[in-house]
Amino acid sequence: MKIKAAVVREKGAPFVIEDVELDEPKADEVLVRIVSTGLCHTDLVARMQFIPVPLPGVFGHEGAGVVEKVGPQVTKVKPGDHVATSFMSCGTCVCCKKGKPGWCSEFRRLNFGGRRPDGTATMKKGSETVYGSFFGQSTFGSYALMSERSVIKVPSDVPVEILAPLGCGIQTGAGGVINTLKAGPGSAIAVFGIGSVGLSAIMAAVVSGCTKIIAVDIMEERLKLAKEFGATDIINSGKVNAVDEIRSLTGGGIEFTLECTGIPKVFRQAVDALMMGGTCGLIGVAPVGVEASLEMQHILDGRTIKGCVEGDCIPDIFIPQLIELYKQGRFPFDKLLKFYSLDQINEAVEDTEKGRALKAVLKP
Ligand SMILES: [Zn+2]
Ligand SMILES: [Zn+2]
Repeated sequence: MKIKAAVVREKGAPFVIEDVELDEPKADEVLVRIVSTGLCHTDLVARMQFIPVPLPGVFGHEGAGVVEKVGPQVTKVKPGDHVATSFMSCGTCVCCKKGKPGWCSEFRRLNFGGRRPDGTATMKKGSETVYGSFFGQSTFGSYALMSERSVIKVPSDVPVEILAPLGCGIQTGAGGVINTLKAGPGSAIAVFGIGSVGLSAIMAAVVSGCTKIIAVDIMEERLKLAKEFGATDIINSGKVNAVDEIRSLTGGGIEFTLECTGIPKVFRQAVDALMMGGTCGLIGVAPVGVEASLEMQHILDGRTIKGCVEGDCIPDIFIPQLIELYKQGRFPFDKLLKFYSLDQINEAVEDTEKGRALKAVLKP
């Protein structure tokens, strides 16, 4: 079928809206009519080829929409079901079997290979291959084709267009607190980097019953927003030493920190601010090859660093839980969203990069 999609043709080039040809669903695949799709940092990273993906390509990996058609082996959803879309995993490697699909041994090939698991491409334009299957899906288009492993059935009594960012950014921030750190009632946490991921983490910390929630950023506006979402304390690390401030606010060090920036210097602060035996969750993605330094004595004192991909979650379980919290008014993630049409994708990118949009959501 013919679809409209935002295509990137060369490294760093703007998105161009084009008509491309999308395949019919294979046996285990679902065709989704995309109602909305979030713009995530990783889409921009791929456009710059910091993660090498084949071009011309269609990105987009946080979709929401309605099932249009399913292959004969699909049992999870049927046409008309509302779905959110998330990353792809193999389902058979050790980590997948342990319920950790974010650490799937096939993660890179399935999410950044530009093709289906069987090696075929889902899109073309005339005789030219257009690479899709980005995070198993490629949702920057009017329709997207994906394995049923990448679709999550969602309730139809919630506006489907707000659900897109749950499949990556929001589950990542919330899962970092709930699944990776397991920060419990009465605990203290500091979140470094207040974008849509950091704010999702703050909302999750509130839901988890954390009683000290410290937001750290260099933008005053973001810190104000963090307070609105439930941060108890804010630190502008551009003006004061964040580690010293956290130590003085907590009487020596904090139990949990979450690093959402991917900047080595900030990661170091997130580890140094921990109390003995404390845990730092690392969510921020640094380009391949970037190293960070730590003081070994600090680690010796029982401090732990835990990496976290996609919120350490099983999206089929976690996303419906987050939606239920939203329905109860306890997880107001919709306040982060700013809507654009898919045609405005380059404007949405600029607004994201300049800090004018926390979470841009595109509507084809
Ligand atoms: Zn796997
Ligand atoms: Zn993402």
